[in-house]
Amino acid sequence: MYIHHLLEASIPEAVTLQTVAEETQNDPILQELVHALETNVWTEDVRLYKPFKAELHVAEGVVMRGDRLIIPGKLQNQVLDCAHDGHPGMSSMKRRLRQKTWWPKMDDQCEKYVKKCNACTLVSSLGPPEPMLRTKMPEKAWTDVAVDFLGPLPTGHNLLVIVDYYSRFVEVVVMRKITAELTIEALFETFTRFGVPEVLRSDNGPQFISETFKSFCKEFGIVQQKTTPYWPQANGEVERMNSSILKRLRISQETNQDGWKWDLRNFLLMYNSTPHSTTGIAPSALMFGRVLRDKLPSVQQSSGQLAEGIQDKDWERKLKQADSTDKRRRVTPNELDVGDIVVAKRMTKDHKLSSNFDPEQFEIISRKGTDVQLRSLDTRKLYHRNVSHLKLITRTTDSAEGSQARENVITNPEEAAPSQEEPVQRPQRMSRAPGYLRDYVAVIETDIK
Ligand SMILES: [Zn+2]
Repeated sequence: MYIHHLLEASIPEAVTLQTVAEETQNDPILQELVHALETNVWTEDVRLYKPFKAELHVAEGVVMRGDRLIIPGKLQNQVLDCAHDGHPGMSSMKRRLRQKTWWPKMDDQCEKYVKKCNACTLVSSLGPPEPMLRTKMPEKAWTDVAVDFLGPLPTGHNLLVIVDYYSRFVEVVVMRKITAELTIEALFETFTRFGVPEVLRSDNGPQFISETFKSFCKEFGIVQQKTTPYWPQANGEVERMNSSILKRLRISQETNQDGWKWDLRNFLLMYNSTPHSTTGIAPSALMFGRVLRDKLPSVQQSSGQLAEGIQDKDWERKLKQADSTDKRRRVTPNELDVGDIVVAKRMTKDHKLSSNFDPEQFEIISRKGTDVQLRSLDTRKLYHRNVSHLKLITRTTDSAEGSQARENVITNPEEAAPSQEEPVQRPQRMSRAPGYLRDYVAVIETDIK
């Protein structure tokens, strides 16, 4: 499997601190910056660094902004590759980068990078974001844990997804069979590493309501909390996680079919070491007091600094403010226009891991209300499609406002009428997935990005 993984063309190689130090010596602009910091003479070349001069310092051959490494120009693309490993969405990738690195225009480059990633575009979200769900917050790691099954996958495997409510740390166990006994075995294996939680939340899956499972919980003093069948979303954290994992498995399906387990682990490393959108802190930091090392270069933070950081973040306050975040995420109407290059939603799906969009690109020729005329860039053939089935790839007439509008383009096939070409066929996205997956398919874009 590892060999297979290595054969994949676009595997980013880790950037080490050593490499950053070497390239800093070779980088004329950073050398000019070192000079500017010594002499306080700021030339045009280092103009972009000047506003931050109070935070800049040189340490052991690298330049730092606070505790973040400044990446020399030559390594910036490689660092972006590493930060996008596991396909985080835009805001998740930014948080991941900001945790360790900085350079002027880093955020801009990050945005461009995600928009250009084909795999991400093909599986990107459909439908409006769902409101965030609140649960009373536990006070320490691994006391309040939620579990759920995802699957079966086309390979026949099921995934047992385990999420800690406090840290948002995630474990995934790949399982062939999902009997109560095997579920207990998988959970107990996890508990031997992280301890036994006080509360275990699940849905009413047969494994979780079985007598065997009940007596397991009783033996270890675990309080079982089950959500009612009418409100499966109450198990929100895990189900959000599931849709996020589904997104990555869809990427695997498109780009690296045999490597899905590898991709899944890569995603988990990315997720657990990236500051969480709600807490602002990497799940591994809240879980273990340290951030897991990944391919991004970093200057090791002491656990003392980290603890301070956690207090500074005041993340419980953030949780309370999440409601206002929901409002900001309101979906705006589709603003696709003539000249835009788009991809179209796939109309037949073999199974739920197929990505939502076909890779074929089209140019918009005309638009009347929700009816859009398209021309294939490959075959030059003309088509009609409902606007809600399209997603923007590039806009030929670019402006700042345009790019804002682009970010808000979210299609919602559930509310849309079928396109003129497929009068019989309703969108079949996730038609065989359980109801909750349909509800949650859009979530990831904002939560795990
Ligand atoms: Zn991607």
